[in-house]
Amino acid sequence: MAASPRQRSTFRFAPSPNGPLHLGHALSALLNHEMARAADGRFLLRIEDIDQARCTPEFEEGIYADLAWLGLDWEEPVRRQSEHFVEYEGALQSLVDRGLVYPAFLTRGEVRSHVAAFKAGGAAWPCDPDGMPFYPPDDRDRSSADRQELLDSGIKHAWRLDMRRALETISGRLEWTETGDGLRGQIAADPAAWGDVVLSRSDAPSSYHLSVVIDDALQGITDVVRGLDLFHATSIHVLLQDLLGLTRPVYHHHRLVTDGTGRKLAKSEGDAGIAELRARGISVADLRRRIGL
Ligand code: GLU
Repeated sequence: MAASPRQRSTFRFAPSPNGPLHLGHALSALLNHEMARAADGRFLLRIEDIDQARCTPEFEEGIYADLAWLGLDWEEPVRRQSEHFVEYEGALQSLVDRGLVYPAFLTRGEVRSHVAAFKAGGAAWPCDPDGMPFYPPDDRDRSSADRQELLDSGIKHAWRLDMRRALETISGRLEWTETGDGLRGQIAADPAAWGDVVLSRSDAPSSYHLSVVIDDALQGITDVVRGLDLFHATSIHVLLQDLLGLTRPVYHHHRLVTDGTGRKLAKSEGDAGIAELRARGISVADLRRRIGL
């Protein structure tokens, strides 16, 4: 039987329209575009606008204008995550049905006071790689009758992955192939470091983690090129891919744009948006030099 043709390399740049694009975004977009070209592959743009409270049409228009100014072209139609909530909800439901996700009823304030009370007793409380405290296990340990009663009452809740149970269902090694600017090779994933991650909130029906793995698989993404700030989050993505039976791209986490002393650029340190730099008369060549391309 003839071998099936190799899948064409497919890259994507996936910004969230919740603010202007800055130099770090420019580096990501340009690297994706150039790597796609070099591989004779495809370059897709995906708008990650699940957080409808923070994303705006103006920021989305700004993304198109900035990328066009940088000289990039992308395939149409652009996938906008806000148009696909039904798909993310279907995936979430499949995890609920398997008992791998539970409704989490504590508000942010309640979590804060729970953790503060615990720490006041002198004990340490675990935090995830972003420094966020783990969610108290109380909801996870509720009886199903108790849980059902709360659900029936219509009280607001999020849905969290039961990390312990999820990991129990995994038989093989959880790892990914990394070709980026930090650690390289086969990287062992450590999703447990994140605790019971949120997969859906009452005000945003899907989380970044859930939507990103579904879309990367649906769009046939073979290569994820993004900043090193998302390196550790890849552990969650790899776990979700296994749980949902999704394909796994190769990951390339690239260096972050720094201020010359190795620190990540902050707005106050002159990290103006691309549009602002453009308005100040900077050329694309200047911008490329500024980000080390
Ligand atoms: N939407 C994410 C962001 O703007 C990027 C997601 C990704 O590249 O996986 O930070």
